[in-house]
Amino acid sequence: MTNKDISRVKELLEGNKKIVIVPHKGPDGDAMGSTLALKILLEHLDHYVQLIAPNDYPNFLKWMPYQDEVLIYDRDPKKCDDYIAEADVIFTLDFNHLSRAGEMYKPLKGAKASFIMIDHHQQPDDYAEVTYSDVSMCSTCQMVYHFIENIGLDEKITPQIATCLYTGIMTDTGSFRYRSTTSLTHRVIADLIDKGADNTSIHENIFDTSSYGQLQLLGCALQNLKVVEGLRTAYITLSQEELDRHNFKKGDTEGFVNYGLSLEGIVFAAIFIENEAEKIVKISFRSKGTFSVNDFARRYFDGGGHINAAGGKSDLSLQETVDKFISILPTYKKNLAL
Ligand code: 5GP
Ligand code: MN
Repeated sequence: MTNKDISRVKELLEGNKKIVIVPHKGPDGDAMGSTLALKILLEHLDHYVQLIAPNDYPNFLKWMPYQDEVLIYDRDPKKCDDYIAEADVIFTLDFNHLSRAGEMYKPLKGAKASFIMIDHHQQPDDYAEVTYSDVSMCSTCQMVYHFIENIGLDEKITPQIATCLYTGIMTDTGSFRYRSTTSLTHRVIADLIDKGADNTSIHENIFDTSSYGQLQLLGCALQNLKVVEGLRTAYITLSQEELDRHNFKKGDTEGFVNYGLSLEGIVFAAIFIENEAEKIVKISFRSKGTFSVNDFARRYFDGGGHINAAGGKSDLSLQETVDKFISILPTYKKNLAL
């Protein structure tokens, strides 16, 4: 953060402010961890804070501190609109374009509040008065840790804040294995453990809480796994019928896309998940090395993200979406073929 940004943040947080904090639609561990951590910190500073998620988030995150105080926009838009309209300051975390807030786009666009963005995705938009954007960071949670340091409040990190930040760093780095995980990330993690994050129980809460149906659905996904010969690509499909058969709940497919990348020699993996209610196919992309799935998702599937992890969507049928995907791949022969 620049000194100018740090001073501006301090000014914006003088006195007792009405603050709204927003993660992206389809909140993940990093989005919920960063927003909850910031909420706890700002409440300790006597601000009036409301965390509003655009839509619901997976059950495997519902053990996190203070998560029962989160409002879900699509359950009670009127109440949320009032909070947004009255806010002095709005923090947007783990996204950098208001369209990623789903139905909250319009009220956020019309808000009179000063915006502060904290985010690590590529190509940030310029809606915020303070933009703390760093695409080299592994997670927004690590950025919130540095944000707290920068404004001189690291002594205020409680065990609950440490737990939230640890969770998001862990989930966004694939448990500290992705390239964006640095020695600094490990130093931050060490400090969070010193400040009260219990690493074993956080790992168990996130990873050892699968339902039987979820593991059966994983079996189905692995049965559907296909390899595109010669292009080092693997993909998985899940139809609405398959999801229904295994009693699918939000979050049940988290991490499935990574199985494609665990195949020897594969550098590009995708999962296509049919969503009949929203009439879309939701897509996750992952890659190894220099092949940018952010560019790929942006160009062809109305999405974005990071170089090695991105998402997108399609309004074609599941089969048509897969056909489109396969037809595009040869364009990237130079990057994908051996
Ligand atoms: P996931 O595949 O785990 O849902 O998301 C991977 C990364 O891509 C995350 O950082 C997420 O924020 C981003 N992402 C997922 N879906 C979309 C999308 O539809 N649009 C954009 N811009 N980013 C996305
Ligand atoms: Mn993130």
